[in-house]
Amino acid sequence: MSLVLDHITLTYPDGAERVTALDDVSLTVPDGTVAAVVGPSGSGKSSMLAVAATLVRPDAGTVRIGDLDVTGLDEAARTAVRRTHVGIVFQQPNLLASLTALEQLEVMAVLDGRRPASVRERARELLGAVGLADQAGRRPHQLSGGQRQRVNIARALMGSPDVLLVDEPTSALDHERGAAVLDLVVRLAHERGVATVLVTHDHSQLGLVDEIHEMRDGVLSPADLPVANLPVAAATA
Ligand code: ADP
Ligand code: MG
Repeated sequence: MSLVLDHITLTYPDGAERVTALDDVSLTVPDGTVAAVVGPSGSGKSSMLAVAATLVRPDAGTVRIGDLDVTGLDEAARTAVRRTHVGIVFQQPNLLASLTALEQLEVMAVLDGRRPASVRERARELLGAVGLADQAGRRPHQLSGGQRQRVNIARALMGSPDVLLVDEPTSALDHERGAAVLDLVVRLAHERGVATVLVTHDHSQLGLVDEIHEMRDGVLSPADLPVANLPVAAATA
């Protein structure tokens, strides 16, 4: 299912005034494609993901997942939409210290009132897909930063989301590990048909994504260069 943001405006209270975080933002992400969003800190990237995730309601505009307009839904319905349609990967993995990699994924079943063991096969399949089949029994402190972020990505896919929202997944990683994590997100999105928005400060890995957009002061525009023509020098500048 595709993700559509249609003329989204979002403001936050700021003393007696309001500050505009998203200014008429529109974005269409077809299934199985990755839209990258780059832009300076404070430009509105995370706010856009929060609106797309139905965590924050915009002042104006609509969010659609497939044919469903999620903007007007009440809180309970939005929670249900997040559980069934949306996967979210935050900057920090937020794994539970006492659980193994496999258990981090299995515990997602509890949110749906199921027993963790009932999703063990899926959890194992996803750990394999992110290259961690041999690390299933490890706890977070026994994993590298890149491996923890892979667990985070696998966990976000446990509910078979239609939409995946990924916020600067490589900010705590060195260049090489960060590049591998971005590659992984793109590959999984393509293979599993997930409409994905990937916010990243790492311009050097954007050659694999389907579209690149730039956020500036709450305004989203196409990045200057088409993906295929993005020269390495410009990408790393
Ligand atoms: P980015 O992810 O690109 O760094 P954000 O979406 O986090 O940008 O922030 C965009 C703007 O909105 C910033 O000016 C930020 O200070 C402001 N902002 C973000 N979240 C809140 C909030 N909960 N309340 C008030 N202002 C916020
Ligand atoms: Mg942010």
